[in-house]
Amino acid sequence: MKISMVSEHASPLAALGGVDAGGQNVHVAALSVALAGRGHDVTVYTRRDSSDLPERVRVQPGLEVVHVSAGPAEHIPKDELLPYMSVLADGLAADWGDHPPDVVHAHFWMSGVAALDAARRFDGGGYPVPVVQTFHALGTVKRRHQGPQDTSPAERAWLEPSVGRAVDRVIATCSDELFELKTMGVSGSKVSIAPCGVDLDLFCATGPAEARGRRHRIISVGRLVPRKGVDLVIRALPLLRAAGIDDIELIVVGGAGDSHALDADPEARRLLALSRELGVEDRVTLRGQVPRDSMPAVLRSADAIICAPWYEPFGIVPLEAMACGIPVVAAAVGGLIDTVVDRSTGLQVPPMNPSAIADAVGELLRDATLRARLGRAGQARVRSRYSWERVAAETEKFYQNTLSSLLSRADLPRGYRHREGLYRGGLYGEGLHRMEGTAL
Ligand code: UDP
Repeated sequence: MKISMVSEHASPLAALGGVDAGGQNVHVAALSVALAGRGHDVTVYTRRDSSDLPERVRVQPGLEVVHVSAGPAEHIPKDELLPYMSVLADGLAADWGDHPPDVVHAHFWMSGVAALDAARRFDGGGYPVPVVQTFHALGTVKRRHQGPQDTSPAERAWLEPSVGRAVDRVIATCSDELFELKTMGVSGSKVSIAPCGVDLDLFCATGPAEARGRRHRIISVGRLVPRKGVDLVIRALPLLRAAGIDDIELIVVGGAGDSHALDADPEARRLLALSRELGVEDRVTLRGQVPRDSMPAVLRSADAIICAPWYEPFGIVPLEAMACGIPVVAAAVGGLIDTVVDRSTGLQVPPMNPSAIADAVGELLRDATLRARLGRAGQARVRSRYSWERVAAETEKFYQNTLSSLLSRADLPRGYRHREGLYRGGLYGEGLHRMEGTAL
């Protein structure tokens, strides 16, 4: 299949940990690699955010990243990118030329806007290009939790639901999202669920662990934004001290640069000020951005990974921790409800609750046997359910279902409908490209 991935702000080639570079980048990269590994021809379109970037980067056979010029070639916060989506659509349509893809998979709502725009230019000629959408995050949920702090453009309130209604299929990453989509007016019949996956070659229990001292070590990993709830973990530290656990360090991983660059980061400053106010500054280290390849060793050095977001569309970090055999303390929100099984692969806590975090961390730190049991079960769960190969196979099935429903449409030209014969005849991989105007 010829697959176009659209990921406007989240390049699969970007460094991770900055405000707008996290799970979506990982998801798009790993899913594309796995689909290319299954023999598909995958192109990822992302916005050029630096003039140094080449127009096309061949990542591996069957996988290419295209940097589309849409707006200034510099970093622009994702919430300011909407005005450039029609130019991004121009870039998609121009690159497709006379050979549009068999399926377009858009990531995040604004990519959906651009993908639908580009796809519709072909629909007029009777050759619909199916659009599959993964939202990664929903504006309704963000607004509920962030209120006036939500910097999303006002148009998101109506554009995002219309993307959900207009696309051919939505792939939700967890069951919680399915309910949210329904309340947005997206028909449940067009929603499928495929989780995010983990790179199981990179994230595994065997391998080096970063050297550490004698103190217990808990780690929080993520973009340094308030909704990741790192302050809630810091607030748990004095409660742990009061409960008799004082030999503990909290390592905070994430941020747009190394620990020096964090001096200029308002969220980093807020977290350090809070640590000082609570008298736990000698317990808290802000590490800054950790490169992806070093992440497993960092995770393995922990007694527990703490994920305390206010809300979480999916949350890849708990899976990465579980894959490394480390137990997770997770707020019971969003994707974490599906991935972290309470008292089996980790401990779930109510959201926004430092005292529940302290209780859960305390229980884990006091009980090495429990930690080992949860770690083993987490590893088994991730290996059986969350490999990218498995996620890619499920995603491919959803692409195929989407295409077969499209092919059942009565109003398609004969040349297009011929594809159905190719599909049913098993020539799907190589045969399902455009028939280039052939009237059969
Ligand atoms: N990450 C990283 N280095 C950092 C911070 C984060 O490699 O310094 C990675 C982390 O390992 C995970 C991703 O960024 O793969 C964050 O994904 P998640 O779904 O947990 O959060 P999101 O950023 O999507 O909100």
